[in-house]
This record gives sequence, structure tokens and C-alpha cells, in this order.
Amino acid sequence: MPTPSGTPVIALEEHYWDEELVNHLSGAEGTRSKDLLQRLYDLSDVRLREMDEAGIDMQILSHGAPSGQKLEADVAASLIRRVNDRLAVAVARNPSRLQGFAALPTIVPEAAADELERCVSEHKFHGAMVHGLTNGLFLDDKRFWPIFARAEKLDVPIYLHPSFPDGRVVDAYYKDYINDYPMVMRAAWGYTVEAATQAIRLVLSGVFNEYPNLKFVIGHMGETLPFLLWRIDQALSRPGQESLSFRKTFCDHFWITTSGNFSTPALLCSMQEIGIDKIMFAVDWPFVANPPAMKWMKELQISQADKDKIFGGNAKKLFRL
Ligand code: MN
Repeated sequence: MPTPSGTPVIALEEHYWDEELVNHLSGAEGTRSKDLLQRLYDLSDVRLREMDEAGIDMQILSHGAPSGQKLEADVAASLIRRVNDRLAVAVARNPSRLQGFAALPTIVPEAAADELERCVSEHKFHGAMVHGLTNGLFLDDKRFWPIFARAEKLDVPIYLHPSFPDGRVVDAYYKDYINDYPMVMRAAWGYTVEAATQAIRLVLSGVFNEYPNLKFVIGHMGETLPFLLWRIDQALSRPGQESLSFRKTFCDHFWITTSGNFSTPALLCSMQEIGIDKIMFAVDWPFVANPPAMKWMKELQISQADKDKIFGGNAKKLFRL
């Protein structure tokens, strides 16, 4: 249901699973509950009903983790092509309610760039989502830059989604607590470290000098980065190293979403640090339910104009919806 001023409510980090891809990545279903699996595989009835009940007008769909980043080079491109084509069919059934982000076979970067272009031009997808490292490599590795060249040319953003930390990190940082608190290496902390590190490394890599109009989106209220901008910026401009305005580069090239982090203090910090025009609404469905996200947003004590920007105004502009 649109806001009182008529702005549609657009949710940006809303996942689904493709059966062929999930079956290929054996063990992905793991201990997921039956309810969660039903929602992940649903691209119409359950999803639309829960959107209606909560008052969400549109989801931009993305494949949930693990996505194309865990695939082998010999199968990645053709499998991901089928995944994206099936998403396009689901979107075409309900285009006013569902739109799409492409999955990408990042292990074959040139093919990933071509797939991004195909999905944007043929399927009218709004960019791509990438889940964590590819073959142990962070995205700032120059081998992936053809993807960024294409994203800039097409003027679509890349959404950086977290994934599991690298096995060596799990071993060194988390393994003592995984049995009692399995989420510590996931949404409670491990995902945040991983996704924030992707973003920091991209800024350090100089990729934005090469592609000055390249855009990224990160979820979970910026993966802690808005809170840390001052400190990162100050530390990275101490003498004896390359000069870099981390704050400026981050604020110029990154948008953030509210996915799975409905904290008013975190939002207010983000509004002050990166500005209201860079913050967009997301739930992280079905890992997070829609109603608490909507309740939080509706009760927020910020102006209706600012709320409209978060709910859909900023997304309409960024994705030309
Ligand atoms: Mn997510």
C-alpha cells in the first residue's frame, strides 16, 4: 500500500531460491525449516499475500545465498543464465509487484559482465546481487573489473550481499562459539564483517577512479560502515600512506538498505552520516518477516518526506522505476 503521499513501498533485499541452482549446491537446504523453504521457492501466492498483508507494493527479487558465487567455472555461466531466465518469467507474471536483480557467474568475469548486460537489456532487471567471495577472492580483485565496467556502462548498481566467512576466518575467529551460537558466524556478526570488508576493499582498490559512476548497494543499514565512517576516514588519512577520502568515496558510490536491521538509532546515525537520499527500504524476506519492518518504519519519528524517500522515493530514482 503506497504511503499517504502516494509513494509505493519498494523492498529491495527480498530473496527467493531457484531449485536447479540450490540442488546443484548440495547441502544448501541444510536445516532450513519447511516454512522457510516454502517461502524461498514461492514466486507468487505466499509471497504476494505476505506483501499485501504488510503493505509492501513491490519486491525487487534476488536469489538468496548461496547464489552464483559458489559455482564452478565450467557450469556457472549456463546455469546462471537459466536461473535468470526463470526469474524473468516469474517477474513477467506480476511486473507491478515483482522486479529482479540478476545473479552473476562471477567466476567467469567476462561472462558475468555479458550476463548482466543481457539481464538488464532483455529482462529489464535493475542490477545484480553478488554474495560474498568468489573462489576465495574479494570483488576488488582486478579480474572482476570487467563486471564493474559493464555495470557502469549500463548504469545499474551491484548489491553486495554477505555470505559465509572464509573457512580460515571461521577457524580463527568463530569456531569456539559456533556450537552454542551458530549465528555468530552468520547474521549476528560474521556476515557483517565479510560484507563491510568487501565494501572497504572496493574503496581502497581505486575502482571508483577507473569507473567514476559505479554504484553499489549494501544492506543491513550499511553493514556498520555509517557508524564507523569518521574513524575509518580519520585513520586512512593519517600521514605515511596514500591519501584517500574514504568518507567521500563511500558516500558517493554506496547506497544502503534497512534489510534485517530495524534500529532507529542506527537509522538516525546513517541519516546523519551518509544522508537520507542514500537509504532505502528492505526487509530480507523470508529470513526476516515483513510486518516488523513495516511497523518500525510507520512508527518512526521522522518527517513524512524522509519516510517517503526511504520507502520508495530513493529506489525509484536509483532504479528508474
Ligand atoms: Mn539477505
